[in-house]
Amino acid sequence: MRSEHPIKRIVVAGGGTGGWMAAAAIARTMGRAAQVTLVESESIGTVGVGESTIPPLVTYNRLLGINEAEFMRATNATFKLGILFDGWKNGSDRYFHSFGLTGRDHWAAGFQHYWLYGRERGHEASYDDYCLELVAAMDGKFAHLPDNGMNYAYQLDSTLYAKFLRTMAEGDGAVRIEGKIAQVELDGESGDVAALVLDRGDRIEGDLFLDCTGFRALLIDQALHAGFDDWTHWLPCDSAIALQTENVGPPVPYTRAMAHDAGWQWRIPLQHRIGNGLVWCSRYLDRDAALDRLLGNVEGKVLTEPNHLRFTSGVRRRQWYRNCIAIGLSGGFMEPLESTSIHLIQRAVLRLIRMMPLGPVNPSDVAEFNEQQMQDMLQIRDFLILHYKATERRDSPFWRQCASMSVPDTLAQKMELFRETGRVFRRNEELFAENSWVQVMMGQGIMPRSWHPIAAKLYDDDLGRLLTTVRDGVVRTVATLPAHGTYVARYCGAATNAATGTD
Ligand SMILES: Cc1cc2nc3c(=O)[nH]c(=O)nc-3n(C[C@H](O)[C@H](O)[C@H](O)COP(=O)(O)OP(=O)(O)OC[C@H]3O[C@@H](n4cnc5c(N)ncnc54)[C@H](O)[C@@H]3O)c2cc1C
Repeated sequence: MRSEHPIKRIVVAGGGTGGWMAAAAIARTMGRAAQVTLVESESIGTVGVGESTIPPLVTYNRLLGINEAEFMRATNATFKLGILFDGWKNGSDRYFHSFGLTGRDHWAAGFQHYWLYGRERGHEASYDDYCLELVAAMDGKFAHLPDNGMNYAYQLDSTLYAKFLRTMAEGDGAVRIEGKIAQVELDGESGDVAALVLDRGDRIEGDLFLDCTGFRALLIDQALHAGFDDWTHWLPCDSAIALQTENVGPPVPYTRAMAHDAGWQWRIPLQHRIGNGLVWCSRYLDRDAALDRLLGNVEGKVLTEPNHLRFTSGVRRRQWYRNCIAIGLSGGFMEPLESTSIHLIQRAVLRLIRMMPLGPVNPSDVAEFNEQQMQDMLQIRDFLILHYKATERRDSPFWRQCASMSVPDTLAQKMELFRETGRVFRRNEELFAENSWVQVMMGQGIMPRSWHPIAAKLYDDDLGRLLTTVRDGVVRTVATLPAHGTYVARYCGAATNAATGTD
């Protein structure tokens, strides 16, 4: 029997991580209520980076019914428990932003208040010692624990992830068209996108268009001019080089972000290789010097030619404009310091599915979508700026610029509140919870001047018992965990991909 409502024709322009994450999720969730067509061009290719993720991707994959071990095997993935930051506070420090909880919170006061009070009472253990994920990561250990006892994400090969999702999407009825989009045809009356015209002349019509064309932003920018908010003032890095190297040892369950005098370097261990990259500000470092620096600081034999990228930090002012939604790099970009781009794709896709219009696009859906998506982006923006602003580094013009820049009021207020009181509040379903802010603020050198008085309710013995119990629990659990590399090989070893060099 035919449905009384017309089937939605959803056209996805672009087949990178953004395009295939969207196509796979919509095809699987909407079934016959939507016809998904994806156009991509092999000759243009994808951006070829984007390997480090954050925990919500675990949920995304589960929502889509993806078998974890199968997905990890197909993408040469490893587990990730957080990010190790080297040299961000003063050049020779290190701190870890873990995905776990630290200690035990009281409803009125986070664990940091007890830890701060404990320091005053002579307890010298590091804040890090109270977090299972952090200690496990630094010991190179991992296992799935009952009741989601370890919070984790993945380090994966993004090209293979897109390929994996493509198989899934096509299995669910999405149609892929190979071809180069030569023109975005607008409806003369409404100004909406009417069709994509390929260079060989085919017209692909649709009701809703997803711009997943990466930095080119063919629909949302080049055709619809949805506007762009430039955030370079706060996030001045504008260049990156990526290259891959051979593994030199078992993969560690974390990503590294190593600060240098004009930016930072990433190291992301997968099963079969390491992803490396340098992010920098072109005002202070030229391309050749950047490449020398990266090559001088990688481990293992270099496997690929350097992939040079330029970007402008900022976001599309309207993520959903007319009948077009920007998903992925076409919607904006913030550097990958906290691995948030794939997450923003996930948020946009799930949000769109929740707001899928029955008939024509509804302006209130558009307004709601844009407000929610922008809220996510602003919160992530503030969190990233924190890494640059809260630093004691003054050893280069780059770091002096970062330390002296003005920051958004929302961030200034958060930093000040923490400095004065040790308090952090999570607002509006913010991605980064209190513990993330606490770890990064303290890691970057903001040490609270006071703590919640409720901590002093504990007598010294009780405080000692609380701190010792949590710490001992962490040590005991970590001692039972296998080495991360061993666990990955057993759970989802991708020996076949590695042997054939599939990439
Ligand atoms: C240096 C760097 C490091 C990053 N690291 C991370 C990270 O660690 N974690 C993370 O979450 N994110 C990271 N990202 C972001 C991540 O790479 C992207 O969010 C993700 O890959 C999605 O990209 P995309 O699909 O939007 O674009 P792309 O991968 O560029 O895909 C664009 C698609 O559009 C197609 N296309 C373009 N023009 C046309 C045309 N005319 N006709 C037909 N098809 C066309 C292309 O062929 C391609 O299929 C990083 C980004 C950069 C720049």
